[in-house]
Amino acid sequence: MTTSPVRLGGLELAPMDRLELVDDPEFPGISIVGLGMVGAVARRHGRVSVELVPTFRGCTALRFIEADIRRAFEPSDDVRVTWSDEPWSTDRVRPSTRARLAEEYGVIIREPDGSLLCPVCGSTSAVRDTSDSGPTRCRSVAWCDDCRNVIEVLR
Ligand SMILES: [Zn+2]
Repeated sequence: MTTSPVRLGGLELAPMDRLELVDDPEFPGISIVGLGMVGAVARRHGRVSVELVPTFRGCTALRFIEADIRRAFEPSDDVRVTWSDEPWSTDRVRPSTRARLAEEYGVIIREPDGSLLCPVCGSTSAVRDTSDSGPTRCRSVAWCDDCRNVIEVLR
């Protein structure tokens, strides 16, 4: 599992812009910034400090993400990645990222009222949870009674 082979030789990019280029290994094309995984980033005296909010503690993708972050910076940059204790929640996901997750991956996030919007047919009332266990610990599985599709729910 490797993602984001980003090396932008010599380009002067703000740290946050570089992090925009780092994808979540589970969702190629979806940046960790859009998923709300970046808690803080700072460049001081040649050192780049990145604090990440992991979507799920113990997620096996974390070490890949850390490696991808280092690759997004220059080899000469002193990049320090730390993991925050702050709990990640789906509220941290950008609206535009939310839309892309639904469109490109069929993965949805529970609406504030607890309902689930089917990414296939748009039904708001026919989606029901079927299983707490999904393909990864960050996702559960739901079912749409209207279009009869399996839907993944990011949690
Ligand atoms: Zn549906």
